Amino acid sequence: MESPSEKHHWNPDEVRKNAHKAVDWVVDYLEGIESRRVYSNVEPGQIFSDLPEKAPMAGETFDEILQDMDQLVMPGLTHWQHPSWFAFFNANTSGPSLAADILSSGLAVQGMLWQTSPACTEVETRMMDWLLDLLGLPQEFHSSGEGGGVIQDTASSATLCALIAARERASGFDVDRNGVDKKMTVYASGQTHSSIEKSVRIAGLGSEQFRTIPTDGKLRIDVGAFEKQVQMDLEAGCLPTMAVATVGTTATTAVDQVKEMAAVCQRYSIWLHVDSAHAGTAAIVPEMRWIHEGVQEADSFTFNPHKWMFVGFDCNAFWVKDKKTLVKSLSVLPEYLRNAATESGNVIDYRDWHIPLGRRFRALKLWFVMRSYGAQGLKELIAEHLEWAQWFENQVLQDSNWRITHLRTMNLVCVAHNSGNEQTEKIAELINEQGEMSVTSTLVEGERIIRFCFGGTQTRFEHVKAAYERLRELG
Ligand SMILES: *Cc1c(COP(=O)(O)O)cnc(C)c1O
Repeated sequence: MESPSEKHHWNPDEVRKNAHKAVDWVVDYLEGIESRRVYSNVEPGQIFSDLPEKAPMAGETFDEILQDMDQLVMPGLTHWQHPSWFAFFNANTSGPSLAADILSSGLAVQGMLWQTSPACTEVETRMMDWLLDLLGLPQEFHSSGEGGGVIQDTASSATLCALIAARERASGFDVDRNGVDKKMTVYASGQTHSSIEKSVRIAGLGSEQFRTIPTDGKLRIDVGAFEKQVQMDLEAGCLPTMAVATVGTTATTAVDQVKEMAAVCQRYSIWLHVDSAHAGTAAIVPEMRWIHEGVQEADSFTFNPHKWMFVGFDCNAFWVKDKKTLVKSLSVLPEYLRNAATESGNVIDYRDWHIPLGRRFRALKLWFVMRSYGAQGLKELIAEHLEWAQWFENQVLQDSNWRITHLRTMNLVCVAHNSGNEQTEKIAELINEQGEMSVTSTLVEGERIIRFCFGGTQTRFEHVKAAYERLRELG
């Protein structure tokens, strides 16, 4: 008689056979993706009600499961890897990233401590240094000095960690002990990402302490207004704690002036965090490095390889200039995690660099992607996306029905129809309903715009041309 553990697990042959099928399934999907509607048109609740109410009593075959994947799940998907995905920002994956994730899933190591998988930690440290070099970021963040980098799940988490470290530095590490008792204020422009206010709330500072600063004509934070607000807050007895510079805002990819913000932050001992979630990847191209001018003065910096850099979700890169402050803010050492390596002080325990304890081997994705494409390959790909955006912008500039609404800083083009908000919104809805491509429409200072972001792994120039053709047909 077989024991349950002998009977129920897939044996090695089954794992091999079924995992190969899964890979074939994914590759078939990606090859045929263009024939699918980008946005799903299921009704709310449809997928839920198509699924059985209870888990099956007896185990089922992998073929049965895959079949339901096709029949039940696929109709309810939005296809982010579609070559005509121009909505939001990209959430790319790629062959090397997919392969690395398969290895990571199979190894299934936990890298919370150096000791729980030394390679998981050390590959990560090396990859974070590689990324610095790839993007031309300052050496202040390099692991060989006081700084260092870590992979987080998302930019939202990175910002929260930055805020926790900022909160502890500003309070002399008192909030960790006694909780928030001062009005600690946080500053960002009105164009900043919603995750900043969320961090302020989660960190217990209270959303009333979040200051949204007006922007200038280029939708960058008004640095003079920022400094005035800091002075007012100081007079009112608040403790200015952190400012966030956004490099590449979500609506229009506006770029805050990091250097000017850093000067204000230094005058008042405010932690400066730079959120370059989408835009960071642009800096692989040397001509784009201006977007990070002044970052060497910042206390922390984050960007998402999981957006534009062909690394599958989730993979956020986060650096701090002073790793001691971050680690001191987040470290709690229970007896069962004590070990000689940690006590020697010679190793990194990444559990102290973010919120969860457990962590996947995500550095493999970065390693595989950077090695497969090479720095040169990545540079050429990002440069091509920038050229596409420029080409698209030029078409719109020559079009009498459409106009460019905002300064194009990288691979995002913002357009509006000349007959106004209503027409622009109608066309955006039509494009998405037709299902062949996807765009995002949003309101910026009262103006309805359609955003076209060009940066997909599957996207080719023909898709960019088709996007402009569609605009011409509809407007
Ligand atoms: C996408 C984005 C975020 C949030 O990213 P997550 O990794 O999903 O948390 C934050 N800031 C900016 C500017 C973004 O573009």
